[in-house]
Amino acid sequence: MEAKVIYFTVNGRPEQAEFPVNCPAQDVKDLFRSAAEAGPHDILKLYNPKGNIINISPSLEPNSPNLCYKLEVVAADCNSEPLGAELAGALGFDLSSMEKRLQGLEKKILIEAGETPAVVYEMKKQVDSFREKLESVEHLSWLGLFKDLSEGTLKPSPFYHKRTLRKTREECEHVREKFLQMSSLEVSEEVRQYLKTPTFDNCVDVETVSQLSLRIILHYRRWMAVYSLSCVFVCLCRQWEDAEIMVLLQVMYTDLEFITTFNIEPEVLQQFLFEVYRRYNNIPFHNFKHCFCVTQMMYGLIWLTDLRSKMDSVDLLIMLTSAVCHDLDHTGYNNAYQINARTELALRYNDISPLENHHCAVAFEILERTESNVFRNLSLDQYKRIREGIIKCILATDMSRHNEILNKFKSILPTFDFTNKDHRDVLMMILIKVSDISNEARPMEVAEPWLDCLLQEFFNQSDVEKLEGLPVTPFMDRDKVTKPSSQTGFIRFVLMPLFIELANLFPCLEQHIIDPVRKALDYYTEMEKALETEQQNRAQSENAAKNKEVTPAGGRRDSRTDGGPDGGKPAAQ
Ligand SMILES: [Zn+2]
Repeated sequence: MEAKVIYFTVNGRPEQAEFPVNCPAQDVKDLFRSAAEAGPHDILKLYNPKGNIINISPSLEPNSPNLCYKLEVVAADCNSEPLGAELAGALGFDLSSMEKRLQGLEKKILIEAGETPAVVYEMKKQVDSFREKLESVEHLSWLGLFKDLSEGTLKPSPFYHKRTLRKTREECEHVREKFLQMSSLEVSEEVRQYLKTPTFDNCVDVETVSQLSLRIILHYRRWMAVYSLSCVFVCLCRQWEDAEIMVLLQVMYTDLEFITTFNIEPEVLQQFLFEVYRRYNNIPFHNFKHCFCVTQMMYGLIWLTDLRSKMDSVDLLIMLTSAVCHDLDHTGYNNAYQINARTELALRYNDISPLENHHCAVAFEILERTESNVFRNLSLDQYKRIREGIIKCILATDMSRHNEILNKFKSILPTFDFTNKDHRDVLMMILIKVSDISNEARPMEVAEPWLDCLLQEFFNQSDVEKLEGLPVTPFMDRDKVTKPSSQTGFIRFVLMPLFIELANLFPCLEQHIIDPVRKALDYYTEMEKALETEQQNRAQSENAAKNKEVTPAGGRRDSRTDGGPDGGKPAAQ
């Protein structure tokens, strides 16, 4: 029979235990107990070389003498009865009598069923694995409580299962109720117009907007609410409530005439929007409010470029719905992480845009249900076209395809033809890409808090990557990135080239999206310079302090090294 040999030390004394692999758990425990010369009620703790407590069981990992475990008798109690009684008193019930009862029941089942039923066997296995988890701390590494880099990338990451980022049922029901109450409100013409502007006038700040006293009057069955227009603005500043955002999304579907053109029932649209809301997670950046920002930008672009006169309503429906669904169930960890950590998503989609494929699949999961299928009254051909379009648009938001899509757009620009389906497809991809990264086209008061959220999400990821020993993306590393440095490069090399090409097709966009982005670039360049100067000053004063320490009292310092009259200039040859 196969035997396991476990090497360990007790009080510094080397010991070894040998037992058959299928030996009962109690025998293994007794073996260790006698090696430690411990009594029947003493508590034993076994530690692995990393210092983690491991379970004393037949499934102990065999080791070698130079990687031996450590056995400790951490508490000795000569008489278990008082302890048991104390525990029973503290817990309000007697553990040993419960254990006896359980054993009796187990025996009864065994007698009646003739063998241990599969379900009991499965439950026992779960209890064992739970006990193992309680006794070892290794599984906590992903919480950041325990640092272990030695495991490398060998373990599939548990992150995809992190449920805490999902919205709770209570949270959803609360928002749903509010939304349903509000959805019968009539949104005023002013708000409708305001929603159509892709960006807000940069000269107008929140106060000025309020001073304009443009008021929206929302009529509700019994009461009347008066909202200032600044609400839309504030909404983008992340303060507007989710239920209100859902009302605004509903307005977009109504005002683009999708409701009438595609015969979308109001309850179905509401259910669809609610499901979308529900499937965006509580994470710093890729949340429901980001979904709204992107959709509102897409909506604004549609109006500003007068796309309604250039493309048919199926295309417009594809674009708006893609924006709404484009980050569904984002977990806050990007594709690089998914792939490196070999998450469920990366395995499912073979490392090909795992996140975008997932967002899209979740969208069609929602649309598969009749009660939330806003396309349920469309013809089969229309549905097919819409599905193809949405997949294309959402998959285009993978930034690793940025150059590919931008180059395609550049190549068709000189002969762009709205009647050409391929041309329209590329334009739709460009429009969702622009909307997705359009925060910098918004006023600084809106854009900057969003950047903070994005950096927070990035830093969360890189911290985890460091803990798990995965490659860390430099632009996500809190030790390498500053706020301005993260933005200047991005605006210069990614955002601007994309926005400029779109403005080449629609010159009217220049003032709405290019100008504000230029201002943002200036702002961050200034910030970057200020930060550099501060760093230089700090380095100089640190150097000066060091030199002071090194220079002997009364010693003469070289004027060339401490920035004397010619200190800054290189010597002439
Ligand atoms: Zn996005």
